[in-house]
Amino acid sequence: MRALTFLARRFVAGDQIGDAIGAVRALNAEGLKATLDNLGEDSTDKASALAAADENMLMLRRLGESGVDANISLKLTQLGMGFDDGLAKESLLRIVAEAERLGSFVRIDMEGSKFTQKTLDIFYSIHDQHPGVGIVLQAMLRRTEQDAKDAVARKVRVRLCKGAYKEPATVAFPDKKDVDANYDKCAAILAKAPVPAMATHDDARIESALKAFDAAGLVKSEYELQMLYGIRAKRARELRAKGHVVRIYVPYGTHWFPYFYRRIRERKENLLFVARNFFE
Ligand SMILES: Cc1cc2nc3c(=O)[nH]c(=O)nc-3n(C[C@H](O)[C@H](O)[C@H](O)COP(=O)(O)OP(=O)(O)OC[C@H]3O[C@@H](n4cnc5c(N)ncnc54)[C@H](O)[C@@H]3O)c2cc1C
Repeated sequence: MRALTFLARRFVAGDQIGDAIGAVRALNAEGLKATLDNLGEDSTDKASALAAADENMLMLRRLGESGVDANISLKLTQLGMGFDDGLAKESLLRIVAEAERLGSFVRIDMEGSKFTQKTLDIFYSIHDQHPGVGIVLQAMLRRTEQDAKDAVARKVRVRLCKGAYKEPATVAFPDKKDVDANYDKCAAILAKAPVPAMATHDDARIESALKAFDAAGLVKSEYELQMLYGIRAKRARELRAKGHVVRIYVPYGTHWFPYFYRRIRERKENLLFVARNFFE
């Protein structure tokens, strides 16, 4: 277990919020912005869901005190959406109000497809009163083109990713080339939404989005390119050097296994990296 914890450190900034703020400071020093994520998902009881909400509140306050350039990302199942939507929404409102007080921003990560509609419902139920909250859409899902059009109509801040969860072909494109084509299509749609955020390490997707944004007349300060902590760090710096706004997703905390597993699953080289280090 200790060896795995060591390996997870490539993708996770540390156990404690102080570790994460240290990582954000280092990113900021290179001109990169951050979004901080307290790792956790699938809370199964009220006490752990409320504890997760408290940690998010603490995170916002610590970010405010430290003066670093970062906002936060969270998952609604961490706040209890898996067993009590009302509890998750109440906690989200509390967190978003605190973010607004501190001039920050809250991004709701998107989870597996069984939660997509619920996540969007909770998000839209508060968005009109609380514009300091944004959502994530996943290009792998067949529904996403329509969700992107809705987001444009309702002036929603969207992060577009490919999607990290294993999904059935009934809801998601099974072929990577279709996911990529849908990513490009949705990125072009989202050029009309406020601050579209392209979350991908895929150069072809980034180039396609940049072309669409340019054609739509967006300047560099009007969109973001986002990457995950520990992945393609050099590329992130190159994009920053070209003047793009680049934000790094920085996870921290002890509940790192599901996040780590998704990073391993999406790239076989990472499995080899784990195996090699494990046997060494
Ligand atoms: C900022 C950010 C936020 C995200 N938020 C969510 C979310 O809320 N919900 C969700 O479902 N998913 C989220 N994701 C994950 C995303 O859906 C993908 O699973 C992940 O980014 C890999 O897809 P890709 O777009 O990078 O393209 P891919 O085609 O998978 O990869 C393109 C290239 O990127 C590099 N790369 C990609 N993944 C890895 C890796 N794990 N290790 C090393 N190199 C890699 C490789 O060079 C690869 O060739 C997020 C991703 C980012 C960057």
